[in-house]
Amino acid sequence: MAKETTLAIVKPDAVASKLVGEILSRIEAAGLEIAALRMERLSHARARNFYYVHRGKPFFESLVDFMTSGPVVLLALRGENAVARWRQLMGPTDPRKAPKGTIRGDLGTSIEKNAVHGSDSVENASTEVHFFFGGADLFEIDPEEVWRSGS
Ligand code: GDP
Repeated sequence: MAKETTLAIVKPDAVASKLVGEILSRIEAAGLEIAALRMERLSHARARNFYYVHRGKPFFESLVDFMTSGPVVLLALRGENAVARWRQLMGPTDPRKAPKGTIRGDLGTSIEKNAVHGSDSVENASTEVHFFFGGADLFEIDPEEVWRSGS
């Protein structure tokens, strides 16, 4: 199976609750590679653009307000089947319905403040990764090169 790259966002609720380390630990423990990582405070325009598919839904303005309320951590995650694996690790949208052991089940507090975002398909993953990251921002990690280097 080919390697995929997907977009992950640690949302403002999880950043404010000092859960960035916990979430990154779960990502690395699950065997997903961090190909890119950046902290950013989204502008209203950027958040509205990113969530464009949800325009017109009753929760849209509230979602934009929340997503711009504090900084987020943007990540590109790489691995075999990375899109589905990250969705699995996140759990379903509503933390009340998310199983224990998933990030949303353990760390989310409401259907809106659900700690993390993840692309929902391979097609959207490519669009979403490139919404936030340029080609030069995405790193290829070669552990063998690292271990061969230096002394
Ligand atoms: P996701 O792919 O699991 O993140 O879910 P969606 O694409 O359906 O929704 C995007 C985001 O909008 C979710 O992660 C929530 O933060 C928020 N959201 C979804 N449904 C609701 C809702 O019914 N009410 C509110 N307030 N926010 C919602």
